[in-house]
Amino acid sequence: MTHTPLTPFAMKRLLLSVLLGLLPGLAPAAAPAKPNIVVIFIDDLGYADIGPFGATKQKTPHLDRMAREGLKLTSFYAAPVCSVSRAQLLTGCYGPRISVPGVYFPGQAEGLNPSEHTIAERLREQGYATACIGKWHLGDQAPFLPTKQGFDRYFGIPYSNDMAQPARGTTEPVSPLLRDDQVAELLTNPQQSRLVERYTAEATRFIRDNKDQPFFLYFPHSAVHTPIWPGEAFRGKSANGRFGDWVEEMDWSVGQVLNTLRDLQLDEKTLVLFTSDNGPWLVKGTDGGSALPLRGGKGSTWEGGVRVPTLARWPGHIKPNTTSDAVAGTIDLLPTALALAGGTLPADPPLDGRDLTPLLLGQTNQSPREAHFYFSGYTLQAVRRGPWKLAITPQPEKGVPAPHPAQPRLYNLDQDIGEQSDLAAQHPDLVAQLQTLAQTMNATIGGPQPTSRRPPGLVAQPHPLYPFAEAKADQPVKPTPSKP
Ligand code: MG
Repeated sequence: MTHTPLTPFAMKRLLLSVLLGLLPGLAPAAAPAKPNIVVIFIDDLGYADIGPFGATKQKTPHLDRMAREGLKLTSFYAAPVCSVSRAQLLTGCYGPRISVPGVYFPGQAEGLNPSEHTIAERLREQGYATACIGKWHLGDQAPFLPTKQGFDRYFGIPYSNDMAQPARGTTEPVSPLLRDDQVAELLTNPQQSRLVERYTAEATRFIRDNKDQPFFLYFPHSAVHTPIWPGEAFRGKSANGRFGDWVEEMDWSVGQVLNTLRDLQLDEKTLVLFTSDNGPWLVKGTDGGSALPLRGGKGSTWEGGVRVPTLARWPGHIKPNTTSDAVAGTIDLLPTALALAGGTLPADPPLDGRDLTPLLLGQTNQSPREAHFYFSGYTLQAVRRGPWKLAITPQPEKGVPAPHPAQPRLYNLDQDIGEQSDLAAQHPDLVAQLQTLAQTMNATIGGPQPTSRRPPGLVAQPHPLYPFAEAKADQPVKPTPSKP
C-alpha cells in the first residue's frame, strides 16, 4: 500500500477541517443524534409583541439574544385559536383532520383523541424524557390529559386562564393547577401572578433532572392570555401597561431556560423553538397585543390571526442572526422533531406537516410544503403558496364587520403584508391554481363530507376536574362550542 504525500492545499484543507471539528461553534454541523428539544409556546402573543419582531414598548432582551444567536422565522403559522393550535403542534395535522376545530371548555366531553400520536409519544419511543409544563387545553377529561398523551410529567392549568369557575360552596372563581393527572391546588385569579415563576421553576428542574439523557420539554405558558397577571417583580415595570409587564416576565422565563441550558453545557445539544399559539386578542384593547403590520388578530385567518413570532436557536447547528421567510408552521414540528431524534415517520396515519431540518440548518431557504392552508374551524378560508395568498370565503374579524363578499381575494404577501390590495382580477391564472389546491384540501379534511377526517376523543359522562358551584338562574351558561 502506498501513500501519496498531501499537497500544501490538501494539508490546509485537512487542518481547517480539524480546527472546525474542534470548534463546533464556528460552523453549522450535521445534527447530532437525539438533540434535546424545547418548545416554548406563548398564549395570544402577537407578531409584533417581542423585540426581534419590532416591539419597542416592552423589552425582551432574552428573546433579542435568542434571535441574535439563532434563526428568525417570519412566515411561521399557528392556528386562529387555542385548542386547535395546540392540537396542530402536537400532532402535525391541521385541526380538521383530527376533529379539533376550536376551543375546549372545562368539563367538555371532547378532547384530542388518545389514539392520535403526539410529538411526546413519538419522542418517547426514541428514548426521550418528556414533560408538559403550562397550559394544556386539549381536553380536561382523564383520557385526554398530558400524562395520557405521551408526557411523563405535567404541571399546569389544563385550559385557558380565563375559564375559572367557583368551586361548590364558594363564590370566588378558581382554576385547577394539576400535577400530573391530579388537581394539586385551586388557584384564585390573583394567584395567577405566580404562574410564570412556578412554571419556570418546574421547567428548569425538568431540564436539570434529565441533563444526561435526551429530553423533550413542551412549555406552553398561560401568559399572555387575559386576564393579565404579571408577577410582583414585573408589575409596573414596562412602558406598555400590565400586558407589557407580562411579556417582560415571559421573556425573563425564556432567559431562565437558556441560562439553565448554558450552565449544564447543553447549548449545542438543544434545539429551542419559541413561538405563539395565535395572534393578539385585539378586542381586549390594552390587555391584548399587536400584530402590526399584519391585518387582523386572534380568531381570524388574516395574517395577524395566525402568523406568529418565531425563533429557533441551536448553537453550532443553526446559523446565528439569520432570518427565513419560508412558509413553515407548528404542523411541521412533529416531523422535524422525529427526524432529529432519528425516528421514521410511518406513512399512516397521514400528517400535514413536513420536516423543517434542512431549513433550520440553513441547507435550504425553501419551504418543505407546497402550500399552507388557513382553516377556521372546519372551514377552509384561505390558501398560501409562495407569496400568494388566496382567500376563498369571508374572513370575519372580531369586532369588525366582514368587509368582503364571498368572491376570492388574492394578496401578494411579499409586497402587501397587510393584505390591503386584492389582485385577483389581475391574476386569474393564479386564482384558478390556488382554488384547485383549496378544493383538493377541502375534499380531504374540510367541509361537511371530508374523506380523511379522523374522529375526536369523546367520553360518555364528562365531569369537571373539581365540583363547580351550582350556576345561579340569572347567570349565563358557558357557551357550548359549535359542532362541525
Ligand atoms: Mg391563544
